[in-house]
Amino acid sequence: MKLSDSIQTLKGVGPKKARLLARLGIVSLEDLLTYYPRSYEDQSAVTPIAQLVPGERVTVAGVIAQVAEKQAGRRRMTILTVVIGDGTGYVRVTWFNQPFLKNKLQAGRRLFVTGKAAYAYGGRGQMEISQVQSYVLLEDGEDGASHLGIFPVYASTDGLNQTFFRKAMRTLLDSLANGADGEIPEVLPESVAARYHLMARCIAFQTIHFPKNAEELQAARRRLAFEELYLIQCGLLLLKKQAREQQQGIRHLASSTMLRQVLAGLPFSLTDDQKQVWREICRDMESDVPMRRLVQGDVGSGKTVLALLALVKTVENGFQGAIMAPTEILARQHFETFTKQLSGTPIRVGFLSGHITAKEKRDLYARIASHDVDIVIGTHALLQAGVQFAALGLVVTDEQHRFGVTQRATLEQQGAGQSMRLPDVFVMTATPIPRTMTLTVYGDLDVSQVRHLPPGRKPVRTFVRTTDRRPLIYKYVRTQAEAGRQSYVVCPLVEQSDEEDLPSAEEVYDELRYGILRGIPCGLVHGRMKDAEKEAVMQAFYENRIRVLVSTTVIEVGVNVPNATTLVVEHADRFGLAQLHQLRGRIGRGSLASYCILVSDSRTDTARERLSILAATQDGFQLAEEDLRLRGPGQFFGARQHGLPDLKIADVLRDTDLLLDARQAAQDTLGSKEDLSFVRPILASLYQEQFEHITDV
Ligand code: ADP
Ligand code: MG
Repeated sequence: MKLSDSIQTLKGVGPKKARLLARLGIVSLEDLLTYYPRSYEDQSAVTPIAQLVPGERVTVAGVIAQVAEKQAGRRRMTILTVVIGDGTGYVRVTWFNQPFLKNKLQAGRRLFVTGKAAYAYGGRGQMEISQVQSYVLLEDGEDGASHLGIFPVYASTDGLNQTFFRKAMRTLLDSLANGADGEIPEVLPESVAARYHLMARCIAFQTIHFPKNAEELQAARRRLAFEELYLIQCGLLLLKKQAREQQQGIRHLASSTMLRQVLAGLPFSLTDDQKQVWREICRDMESDVPMRRLVQGDVGSGKTVLALLALVKTVENGFQGAIMAPTEILARQHFETFTKQLSGTPIRVGFLSGHITAKEKRDLYARIASHDVDIVIGTHALLQAGVQFAALGLVVTDEQHRFGVTQRATLEQQGAGQSMRLPDVFVMTATPIPRTMTLTVYGDLDVSQVRHLPPGRKPVRTFVRTTDRRPLIYKYVRTQAEAGRQSYVVCPLVEQSDEEDLPSAEEVYDELRYGILRGIPCGLVHGRMKDAEKEAVMQAFYENRIRVLVSTTVIEVGVNVPNATTLVVEHADRFGLAQLHQLRGRIGRGSLASYCILVSDSRTDTARERLSILAATQDGFQLAEEDLRLRGPGQFFGARQHGLPDLKIADVLRDTDLLLDARQAAQDTLGSKEDLSFVRPILASLYQEQFEHITDV
């Protein structure tokens, strides 16, 4: 048996179960092994019924005295109630909608059940076990002790219950333990495991699924989280080292008249932050080690001008530059700004997107290949095979988190002409990423920050309002529209959903244009529209042919419409802080006073806390830290957007110390020939996709 074998090789898993498991991302035995419990049930002790305390999660053991079934409600729900006694008292246990249980739960049988103790009928007096988490019917003469312990609880889906998971995990672990050595291969070098006191990998897997006590569980978790962080760090550091070692970067020259000319032509002077980052960029570009720099800066902090300067620098040194934006409209915006800002120079700028004609594309490809264009601005289209630069000196990617690491590498691998030197790489992101996160996600990049906004910006004033104020809010939007100003209205969903009673973009759009905004040009844009349709609406908004834009979060990425002064977010509690902050960055881009109105009726403390933090601060980094604290890293990045493997067990927020240890260990490993040759094949097989260019080192 190999860990890479299909999940179907496991006893008890047929094609049907395999399909359900696949939905959870479990395809191989290893996937199952690393499907870590979401939580644990402490069933290490049985509570006598007489000692039940309402509100506590307990395990009770008793003999079934009575079984009753009834139907209730409009939907004819089946309610099955069983009374069990253990000599100290009686307790009711209730199941909903599980009619098949009736035949199993017969009077006289012994039952182990775990759930929450509460007063029956909402009153005092008799107790019941509600929210049953698990139960076991004991066979005649069976000893209950084997059912006591700490049990794993897995995130499950329809058709796969806890009993299934526990059994499957047991079977897998048992067969791994009984099989030949090395079936759970060690992935940490001995020196690392020893230095950080980490338990063996095979024991960690046994323990994480079936811990005997809390201390063991903690040690197993620590070991597995360390492993996860360590391997990612090794991969990222290896990428960085490789780029360094090849020493094939371009040494840009320091002096440059064209650059000075462009700087002088700007309608502003650089802020101190911008100057600092610009110095860092220059230092990188002037060294012959390829630059790999991430520039983080809040929306509107002025990163684009840094990209422009860097591109001018590479052009002045005889190279070409490329800048890649995540959407067509953003690319077009950069194209317009750059064309304007470079108008006094001989620099030739090209625009490449999926939407130009075949002929335009052919022409541009030819000009790129013959160095008849200096700067190419584009979308993903830049990554197509036909795009071959004559002498690529610098690659800028905007809004990095939308591109995967691999995608980024595609362009970077293009050598700069015959010299085959690696181009410099400059990544801009407006997502303020907390430090710990940066280390995990961008471990292969050096980081610069533009922390302060340019002077003269009017801060956006932010308010939190309940839904009963909507008529007033939209009346304000109407007055703004009549005065020629524009507004965004953001909704959490595209269309009406049965499950959730949330305002959808479609509904709000209709409500407004047929109601309070009648006669005002309104537009609707959401993620399910075709790209071309989306771009058309955005373009109309950009040109102020649309005054009020109703949307889902597709506007999040940096569109620049300085005339937009109002942002209304419906059901604001549904969004993350960082996301709301990004949205808010769409307004306050001009000299006009801007207002952000967060509509929410939520009464939960976290929701209120989050929204009030947002109203109180404009600092994206602070908000990002708060968001991470309140919502955890999974939510923070959204599904797989960052193009790195998801963390399965480590938690960059809670495990900061572990992350720093893992980072140190990874650094040490890169300095040790022996350890590195141990880890390298493991990285290659682990991160095939993400780190494919590691494999052929
Ligand atoms: P980002 O890309 O970081 O979101 P931009 O580069 O688009 O921000 O800058 C936002 C706006 O601020 C632009 O209109 C830009 O011209 C302006 N800007 C940039 N730097 C400065 C500065 N130092 N002083 C004044 N305005 C600036
Ligand atoms: Mg930008």
